[in-house]
Amino acid sequence: MNIKILHPCPQCGGEVSLEETDRMLACPYCRVRLHMTSEGPFRYALNVAKPQGDLIYLPYWRFKGIIYRAVSFKIDPQILDATMLALSGAAAPRSLGLRPQTLPIKFAIKTLPGAFSRPDMIFDKALTQIEKQVATIKKPEEEFEKAYIGETASLVFAPYYLNNNTLVDAILNKPLGKLPDASADAIKSTLVENPKWEPKFLSAMCPYCGWDLKGDKQACVFVCGGCRTAWQPQGKKFKQVAVGTIVGEGEQVVYLPFWRIEPEVEGMELSTLADLIRVANIPKAVQPGWDKIPFVFWIPAFKVHPHLFLRVSRQVTTSPFTGEIETVTPPSQTYPVNLPLAEAVQSLKVVLATFGKPHRTVFQRLPKISIKPKKAMLVFAPCAVQGSELVAQELGFAVSRQALIAGKDL
Ligand SMILES: [Zn+2]
Ligand SMILES: [Zn+2]
Repeated sequence: MNIKILHPCPQCGGEVSLEETDRMLACPYCRVRLHMTSEGPFRYALNVAKPQGDLIYLPYWRFKGIIYRAVSFKIDPQILDATMLALSGAAAPRSLGLRPQTLPIKFAIKTLPGAFSRPDMIFDKALTQIEKQVATIKKPEEEFEKAYIGETASLVFAPYYLNNNTLVDAILNKPLGKLPDASADAIKSTLVENPKWEPKFLSAMCPYCGWDLKGDKQACVFVCGGCRTAWQPQGKKFKQVAVGTIVGEGEQVVYLPFWRIEPEVEGMELSTLADLIRVANIPKAVQPGWDKIPFVFWIPAFKVHPHLFLRVSRQVTTSPFTGEIETVTPPSQTYPVNLPLAEAVQSLKVVLATFGKPHRTVFQRLPKISIKPKKAMLVFAPCAVQGSELVAQELGFAVSRQALIAGKDL
């Protein structure tokens, strides 16, 4: 479940409600569209309407995403949505439960009254602990590979009071117990006031031609309808993204985005189309010249349910497209890019595990295989709307429109 954040519009001051996955602030009052970035993770705070004393905010890592684990010769995707106290010593509740989803949230910025405790636990460690909690309900299996995809890692600060070393939950106004002096001092030593954690806002305008950049609120790549280029926010600027469009025919066309990634594979012979035929054991004779055509992965650049994500990646990667790609963005409606390249890259080994044959051997070799991207391009594939499905003729797959809608919340 997404959390909702309230933030004043930087241009007109009107209060805007944002979803945690939104990367665009679209103000309903003055109509400005601003892309949001953050140095480090986005930081939020649970809001206390009328504080009864000096507030201190303790940090919790929040993870929301999908873990793909290669276990016992199958891929086992699991959706995780959890919080974990980001202080190693503090005697405070370890998780926030459903509070982030049910209480008003703001960005953790200096206008909030109180002091913020700096986390002393890195995100990876918190994630390991979250996984351990999940693992206790499942029986242990041999794990060959693990990837986190579509993840949101943010910090949520929860309000407490520290009254004579008694920790008090500031939302329920409920004492949680007296802390040993050392623990209370440890918390006090991490406190900072007025942290400079404001999100940064970037005007969604094409750096080339000044046209409004298109992309929905969750998009991580924006498309310019004027000069047909694509842009990705990086720091305080937009950086151009290599882009292409598969030339297609027919009406009612929607363009779905894919990351076309030419990999450098170590630990397995997989650099050409001929290698793919062998690795995936595709019942096709290797044609002359195929040992010169580079092997590429095709990974959806949009969030969908994990099983569908794996199926589409496998289908498109193993039925390679060799037709024409024009190096511009599509002439008409594009589906938003909401899965960044970096996350698509993390999925490559898991995708390889779905098509490599024999399965058992490939799984066992996974820990010794490394895959790095050599070249990457964002490619839009035309899809025809056929009833409740989107059919991509050129790439040879179909997805239900309902699955795309459901995927946006992941
Ligand atoms: Zn505004
Ligand atoms: Zn432009």
